[in-house]
Amino acid sequence: WKHAPKDFRALLEISRFHGDKVFLTYEDEHITYEEHYRRACTLARRLAEEYGVAKGDRVAIAMRNYPEWVISFSAVLAAGAIAVPLNAWWTPQELEYGLSDSGAKVLIADGERAAGLAGVAPALIVTRGEAPEGARSFADVLGEVAPDVTPPPVELSPEDPATIFYTSGTTGRPKGALGSHRNLGQSPMTVAYGMYRVMLKAGMDPGAAAGQRRVTLLTVPLFHVTGCFAVMTTTMFTGGGLVLMYKWDAGRALELIERERITGLTGVPTNVWQLLSHPDLEKYDISSLSALGYGGAPAPPKLLERITEQLPSRAPSNGYGMTETTALAISNAGADYLAKPDSIGLPMAVVEVKIADPLGAELPPGAVGELCMRGPNVILGYWNRPEATAETFVGGWLHTGDLARMDDEGFVFIVDRAKDMVIRGGENVYCAEVEAALFEHPAVQDAAVIGIPHEELGEEVGAVVRLSSPVPAEELQAFLRERIAPFKVPVTFWTRETELPRNPGGKILKTSLRREVLGT
Ligand code: ATP
Ligand code: MG
Repeated sequence: WKHAPKDFRALLEISRFHGDKVFLTYEDEHITYEEHYRRACTLARRLAEEYGVAKGDRVAIAMRNYPEWVISFSAVLAAGAIAVPLNAWWTPQELEYGLSDSGAKVLIADGERAAGLAGVAPALIVTRGEAPEGARSFADVLGEVAPDVTPPPVELSPEDPATIFYTSGTTGRPKGALGSHRNLGQSPMTVAYGMYRVMLKAGMDPGAAAGQRRVTLLTVPLFHVTGCFAVMTTTMFTGGGLVLMYKWDAGRALELIERERITGLTGVPTNVWQLLSHPDLEKYDISSLSALGYGGAPAPPKLLERITEQLPSRAPSNGYGMTETTALAISNAGADYLAKPDSIGLPMAVVEVKIADPLGAELPPGAVGELCMRGPNVILGYWNRPEATAETFVGGWLHTGDLARMDDEGFVFIVDRAKDMVIRGGENVYCAEVEAALFEHPAVQDAAVIGIPHEELGEEVGAVVRLSSPVPAEELQAFLRERIAPFKVPVTFWTRETELPRNPGGKILKTSLRREVLGT
């Protein structure tokens, strides 16, 4: 890992070797690696020359997964500035928060986002839509792209900050995670090594696969680390193709897998669940697909069972990662995954893991404690949040806020998020465990377990479910009693006709769900 690209510029130079191969595909648009390189360098120069963007300045990006997202990201980093990807699902008020929290000097946005931000945004560059008054269009700023363009002259070092990604905000207001060039440089090698491990464990020949061009379908947003690092920069490094979608849609994904001969997709567990549940799954030729990766949210073991049944010979893998770990940190694949379907697997090559008690002392195998990690993938800290930084990064270890245990072989099992636990009369009920048991029921399409305030017990267990056909609560309870202890079985069920609210990271928005069903 000493040889990992030392900064983004090194990664960009590597990507140029892929030359005329197609890098980005969006609908009928195709951008080769060489074109991407030239456009990114040109935009980097314009940002420096026309907008005065200098090393350390923040430049925000707020758009859907358009090719310009990738070009803008590359340009901002090549200029030595810090890229601030903002969540495209955010309301204008939330985007305003991201802009002011990061102190962005320039915002590059799509027309949809820009419309709500006229007057608030700093210098605004707009693509795919009208540029409001005072803003300039992306094409106009880019102007003519010379074939011999080079990045602006900026000195970078591996410890320099490179990105501010906002955490998903599952447990509170999103925090700006400040990642370095080192974090970013090691990521594609870590992930590429991980893919190699996936193939080996699945009994595939990585040597044979190396001759085959990888084409990945991006099913998650670029503004979260999974999309950006586990998928986009890794593709940039390995020279594969990346197929972008405006928005995730299982039917559209099936069309694209057939049309673009997609070889792998990496997303959140819900993406794969929805593909498997799609009524037209059988109608498409998806024979090109050889790898199915997912992570970022708990993947119920039932998902693996369904993949094995419905799409055998596709290598499934479950990856655990956080914004604070520059995406992938721990992963489970192949025979290991089949043997331990409820495990997130083994740490990636660069990552050290410990399970710790509340004081940070390492616990023995089998004990449940907080998952802690360190390594070159762990970010510098939170942007402008010294307190949160001191709380989370202790003595060089990142405290994840996830409860986990490790077995004798070093496999990690996520028990639950520390904040996603129901405490019923002093007994801990891990929501993830109850949800995984619910997913075993054939009629359960989606499930979320929440705590219901209770006078005597403190909290009782409740569940919100989406069912494919009506099932009485008593039947679900009886089904669960065969699998989990009685005190964990929800006393109240709410059924929902529509999909459960999820953030783009695939996590259920329990706070809004609780408000919806409990009014609190
Ligand atoms: P916030 O920190 O703002 O509350 P968040 O933690 O949801 O938001 P992310 O960084 O996107 O923001 O998510 C990281 C979390 O996602 C992990 O701490 C863990 O709880 C969960 N997670 C990620 N991958 C997996 C996985 N494979 N299995 C189970 N949980 C996972
Ligand atoms: Mg978090």
